[in-house]
Amino acid sequence: MADVTQIGHWINGARVAGESGREGDVFNPATGQVTGRVALASPGELDTAVAAARAALPGWRDTGLTKRTAVMFKLREIITARSDDLARIITSEHGKVVSDAAGEVTRGLENVEFCAGLMHHLKGDYSEQISTGVDVHSVRQPVGVVACITPFNFPAMVPLWMVTTAIAAGNTVILKPSERDPSAALWLAEAFSEAGLPDGVLNVVNGDKEAVDGILDHDDVAAVSFVGSTPIAQYIYERAAGNGKRVQALGGAKNHMVVMPDADLDGAADAAVSAAYGSAGERCMAVSVLVAVGEVADPLVEKIAERMKKLTIGDGTDEASEMGPLITAEARDRVASYVEGAAGEGATVVVDGREKTFDGDGFFVGTSLVDNVRPGMKVYDEEIFGPVLSVVRVDTFEEAVKLVNDNQFANGVAIFTRDGKSAREFEYAIEVGMVGVNVPIPVPVGSFSFGGWKKSLFGDTHMYGPEAFNFYTRRKVVTSRWPEPTESQVDLGFPTH
Ligand code: NAD
Repeated sequence: MADVTQIGHWINGARVAGESGREGDVFNPATGQVTGRVALASPGELDTAVAAARAALPGWRDTGLTKRTAVMFKLREIITARSDDLARIITSEHGKVVSDAAGEVTRGLENVEFCAGLMHHLKGDYSEQISTGVDVHSVRQPVGVVACITPFNFPAMVPLWMVTTAIAAGNTVILKPSERDPSAALWLAEAFSEAGLPDGVLNVVNGDKEAVDGILDHDDVAAVSFVGSTPIAQYIYERAAGNGKRVQALGGAKNHMVVMPDADLDGAADAAVSAAYGSAGERCMAVSVLVAVGEVADPLVEKIAERMKKLTIGDGTDEASEMGPLITAEARDRVASYVEGAAGEGATVVVDGREKTFDGDGFFVGTSLVDNVRPGMKVYDEEIFGPVLSVVRVDTFEEAVKLVNDNQFANGVAIFTRDGKSAREFEYAIEVGMVGVNVPIPVPVGSFSFGGWKKSLFGDTHMYGPEAFNFYTRRKVVTSRWPEPTESQVDLGFPTH
């Protein structure tokens, strides 16, 4: 039996043990062993954290922008120097291979780097002489105490998407990480503290639905950022907005990769395998549907199946592994049930990941490729969030666009083609938030913002980048004039220029 670590909270600049008496298991998914017991916060513990965040708010709001910037630079230094430690923590609780975890840390750092430019991002506008002797300027002020609720699949990157901008903009934060892999968030809180962030500005409250509901109903929480599955995103959006909070809630996905007849098929096959099976398909931007247009279907399926045979699946800490286990035994069984169901619904299971066997009790499943999939089949309609790639065959570009646009999810999409006109028409017509042209996982770089459409995002503001500075600030516009007392007169007319 591995040692079992007690995982508590981070409140007011210190680790604190949970007091609710409720705990959850944290597994090493590669071995199936329980390695940690995470505290699940009670409403009272949440209240203590919110009180700490509230108390820290005036001081942090008053902290000069140059000092806030210094925290970002120092944080970048700390994370860069110790990124291997953070990557190993991610792998130990999530299961993804260490190189993938390191990639997650690098992508998360982009947000720290963007926020190091906070002096620029928080600038207002100024118009002199908008009317005679009248000037107008705008400022951005923090929203208050904000809550960030994150999913299991990016235990460091998604917290960095949210908390970095929230803090840069002068807010104080309650971070509620996934209870499946909570340690990366605690590591980040300690790194922020070491970087000079005052106590109480960032608090990590571990927990489940009870803590989340406490956040959604808390009078002192002004805004909620959420990333997770669609049903929970919708719930968060409705309940928090109903309580008068500002909300952005990103949900699930079913990302299509359209391959046109003129595409380079070897390149497309490489991209499909990488984007479908990387991180065991547990990425919100994973490709889960390959849309083969015209005659590309047969050769493409063959090329993908060939590449799948060469994949090495194993413990994420083993450098030879390219794909690790699923997050839980339930997630693994759920994935297997979709493959089983697909055959019953008339699809063709070309590669059946259930046939691959693994030693030990880890939550492993092999990669699956399912051909002749159509809308109306569960394997197509639902988010699987595992290493299953469905192939839908269509005859034309127009059919491909319609298929994607009819889907309830609209997070990411890609087109593979060598024809600029098709790419341009696709970009114009497709109803999806993030589009890749010969790029299978088009996650925007940190200077843009991340978000889907339809059931992949509730609210209107995307995560990180410029839109995040809008989400985490309240904009105020000031109109001023300094008239001579002699110019004053009563005028009941509507002010015009
Ligand atoms: P999840 O919805 O189960 O959990 C997300 C968060 O919500 C966790 O912190 C969890 O504790 C909390 N939660 C879970 N059930 C709850 C409930 N009933 N009431 C209140 N809170 C609850 O998601 P997950 O399994 O951790 O993550 C995977 C999902 O996240 C996938 O659907 C994936 O597509 C999605 N995701 C989306 C994006 C995006 O940017 N759109 C990014 C990453 C992950």
